[in-house]
Amino acid sequence: MVGGGQLARMTHEAGIPLGLRFKLLSDTPQDSAAQVVSEVVIGDYRDLDTLRDFARGCDVITFDHEHVPIEHLRALEADGIPVRPGPDALRHAQDKGVMRARLTELGAPCPRHRIVTDPADAVAFAAEVGGFPVVLKTVRGGYDGKGVWVVRSEAEAGPPFRAGVPVLAEEKVDFVRELAANIVRSPHGQAVAYPVVESQQVDGVCDTVIAPAPALSEELSGEAQRLALRIASELGVVGHLAVELFETRDGRVLVNELAMRPHNSGHWTQDGAITSQFANHVRAVLDLPLGDPRPRAPWTVMCNVLGGDYPDMYPAYLHCMARDPRLKIHMYGKDVKPGRKVGHVNTYGDDLDDVLERARHAAGYLRGTITE
Ligand code: ADP
Repeated sequence: MVGGGQLARMTHEAGIPLGLRFKLLSDTPQDSAAQVVSEVVIGDYRDLDTLRDFARGCDVITFDHEHVPIEHLRALEADGIPVRPGPDALRHAQDKGVMRARLTELGAPCPRHRIVTDPADAVAFAAEVGGFPVVLKTVRGGYDGKGVWVVRSEAEAGPPFRAGVPVLAEEKVDFVRELAANIVRSPHGQAVAYPVVESQQVDGVCDTVIAPAPALSEELSGEAQRLALRIASELGVVGHLAVELFETRDGRVLVNELAMRPHNSGHWTQDGAITSQFANHVRAVLDLPLGDPRPRAPWTVMCNVLGGDYPDMYPAYLHCMARDPRLKIHMYGKDVKPGRKVGHVNTYGDDLDDVLERARHAAGYLRGTITE
């Protein structure tokens, strides 16, 4: 697996029961996954020689992030190493402009959008979609809301253009909430769809995921799942695909973006689904039959734990575990820095209010924003 973040750490964990030999290419030995994987190569994934040396002897390569240059992935394929997901799929997750163009071609519902060349062009785009505000995005390199600007005037439109990559302008969708349709697809073309979830962001960072999305009509949920399955099949995705969606006030879904790897909106599956996204990602990458994606409980809630006041989690563990024996804690071994995602918790049960309260309490307590 290329990339040493928490997604690699949890994918590795899912491979252990299968007896997999898991090799990691990581930036530093301190990275979340590098702390727990036995076979770690420290190196730069942007360097082709490093990637080639790393890939030698691997049966298949997969990723913790979407940033490996496409031409390097093609070179690995030419060396005979299966790359999953492959470059033809992955380029849609690397570049929001490419993604929008392809989805539009497929007739997938998207916010109105186009590439804009400068602040004046952003003003012209705003006029085309009924005025400001509009959303400007760098086509590459964004994550957790970085690389996304809500722009209210030409004067505010400057910063995105300084990043040196094309800028995608989108209408600002007046959404009811954000959803994610997560599916896993194998090279065989077998695919499974998880229940559609609601994903709540705070300051551009995922905070809470509720599975399944409360009060989502069966019709819209089915539509979102079918859309994700169709995108995966048309783009040739192998592994986990997260389709981030906006639910609009008139009862439609619009695609926000695609992630071709395990995703934060699927962390609930570790404790709330029969087969987790990580286990199914591993199965897909190895072209094994996929596992059942159905939920184990009526409701599962995931809350992210952001870095807060505690460098030492032990006292917080005492409180959280004593308060809620059903709580599942997943920490990533990262240094605690304010605002950084350092872990998540999962809770499940029959009563959504109770499940939500338990998850929020634990996440807040681990962060230090709740103290009793
Ligand atoms: P990232 O690459 O950081 O995940 P996204 O494209 O997912 O960037 O945008 C981050 C957040 O910004 C979204 O979760 C959503 O809340 C908001 N956002 C993005 N695009 C739009 C849009 N067209 N209309 C309204 N809000 C948007």
